Amino acid sequence: MEILNAYCLELDQIVDPLEARNAYFSQTDKSLRFNFYCSDENCRIKLIGANIYKPEEAVKRQPYFKTKSENPHKDICKYHDSNTKDSKKKNTKKHGIDPVKEHIYPSVLILDRPETVIKIDKSIKNNEIKDEILKEKISVATKKYNKSNHSETIYLEKVVNYYEVNPKCEFLLKIGDTTHQYKNWFKRILYFEDGKDFIFWDFIRKIKKYGNNYSIELQSKCLKDKLSFFIYLKQEVIENYRLKRDIIGRLEYLIDLIDNKKDLNNKERAICYFVKTYPELSTQPFNRYDIPIDNLYHFVIKSIETKK
Ligand SMILES: [Zn+2]
Repeated sequence: MEILNAYCLELDQIVDPLEARNAYFSQTDKSLRFNFYCSDENCRIKLIGANIYKPEEAVKRQPYFKTKSENPHKDICKYHDSNTKDSKKKNTKKHGIDPVKEHIYPSVLILDRPETVIKIDKSIKNNEIKDEILKEKISVATKKYNKSNHSETIYLEKVVNYYEVNPKCEFLLKIGDTTHQYKNWFKRILYFEDGKDFIFWDFIRKIKKYGNNYSIELQSKCLKDKLSFFIYLKQEVIENYRLKRDIIGRLEYLIDLIDNKKDLNNKERAICYFVKTYPELSTQPFNRYDIPIDNLYHFVIKSIETKK
């Protein structure tokens, strides 16, 4: 069974894998590693966070939590196999989604930039923490977690990750004042004239670096005038982004991927998603469409495996 969340000792809260990765990339100490524990206070086994710490892993695969093979969940734990057998029955699925995971799908994307800085306590040593103190910490964190609303997110990436696994999902997602079914939110950029309230996406043809700015050329061209679409990520926008280590790492990885493979018909392809921004016909001398990105929380860049 997928482990939906874990207790993180350094953050002293229950986090999902994406939140853990974003907390890591929001600070400058690359050597920091988190200690994760099963969020069932009666289990408390140590968990491993996968695809959390390296941008090149983060860009290719979604992060997740797993158990150490020699250290499975305790019998009493909600994640123990004997307690989750119903979740494995195929006929319990609705819209292709496992019902036990339904409660975590994001139903609201909050567009405001997050104000709060993520607190990380590096003074706690996991080998010194007493078991009863850990149990108490998990218990307190769980109560706090249960009070908060997990269907809201500030991360477009969380929405994108959910959509990629469930592309035909009919659940509702609200962004700003607009609500659509998940499957209807996503639109390839060449159909941008259908309207502004979509999460647009396209494959990436080329990424070029100009100083500390990046220019991204998309693969599609406008259906009407055959002009190309470009995204220009300015240095100051990247500098103001709390997860700038993550975005720079992804861009550098994807530049390497595209430059070294040349042919984008390979299985792994660069892709980007963006919301609340819209192509603008550029002024001369460029004959193209520019897509302004002022808020990197509304922009996701990654690689995906395609069947081609
Ligand atoms: Zn457990």
